[in-house]
Amino acid sequence: MGKRIVIALGGNALGNNLPEQMIAVKQTSKAIVDLIEEGHEVVISHGNGPQVGMIQKAMASLNAVDPKQYPIPLSVCGAMSQGYIGYDLQNALREELLDRGIHKPVSTLITQVVVDPEDPAFKKPTKPIGSFMTEEAAKKLAAEKGYTVMEDAGRGWRRVVASPRPQHIVEIETIRTLVDAGQVVVAAGGGGIPVMETEGNHLKGVPAVIDKDFCSARLAESVDADCLIILTAVEKVAINFGKPNQEWLDELTPERARQLISEGHFAPGSMLPKVQAALQFAESKPERYALITLLEKAKDGIAGKTGTIIR
Ligand code: ADP
Ligand code: MG
Repeated sequence: MGKRIVIALGGNALGNNLPEQMIAVKQTSKAIVDLIEEGHEVVISHGNGPQVGMIQKAMASLNAVDPKQYPIPLSVCGAMSQGYIGYDLQNALREELLDRGIHKPVSTLITQVVVDPEDPAFKKPTKPIGSFMTEEAAKKLAAEKGYTVMEDAGRGWRRVVASPRPQHIVEIETIRTLVDAGQVVVAAGGGGIPVMETEGNHLKGVPAVIDKDFCSARLAESVDADCLIILTAVEKVAINFGKPNQEWLDELTPERARQLISEGHFAPGSMLPKVQAALQFAESKPERYALITLLEKAKDGIAGKTGTIIR
């Protein structure tokens, strides 16, 4: 029986630079089309760390050489990254589908995601973005532009932005319509472009970064998916990760997942948001489940042969 699956692609599905991405999307498309070939409906979301970093640096350099150019906000950089990554994925997916004799339209949707102005994340920005700076340059920028800056793990100073929770996907009806019509959609790239509801009908871009795993869980709930697959750089979730007593997990109940989260088994910023997102989706309806596994194991994972299932 075909399932409706939201596939959240991690950094290794796209690589760290332009040539890496061109190669990576081919492998990624094979893994995705394997699922389509088995009769599943897929909606694809993805991270954008290296890509939005590149775009942001390019835009900052533009300002440095031509001060007359208007500074490009982070939300616009996010939109550009959705376009660029979507283009590469669309192109590679189309080719892989046609190579297997499957005629299915593929498109990317520039996706805005509403965040709550009262989200506590805005009081405590945690997500480093952009180039490393000296302490002096960072403090100057903070004074001039009202940015929050922070020392990042001994490597230098960086701008930090908030990582609020996704509330609502603005383009959700379009995404649903396309999936219902049997089409492949790439949506909510990079966690979506964060926007805030303001007076009237205007949605205002917010300088923030929504976690792509949380946004993928929200997307999966909103398209009424059966399954959320988080594809990343490990085949399974582990307890005591990286320690001699490390243990790979095949299955997690929400209760056990919560317990392991509270015991600190999952690294914040990498595995923790995945387990939290998986848990949130699995709990949203009784028959829903989430799977965390390696990109190249997606097919085996959905067949129940590997990965960590949260249900
Ligand atoms: P992605 O780009 O897919 O979001 P991340 O690097 O953010 O990937 O997160 C995946 C990484 O989390 C794994 O490659 C692994 O190094 C790390 N990790 C941290 N804690 C755990 C754990 N408990 N079990 C498995 N992997 C973990
Ligand atoms: Mg990550």
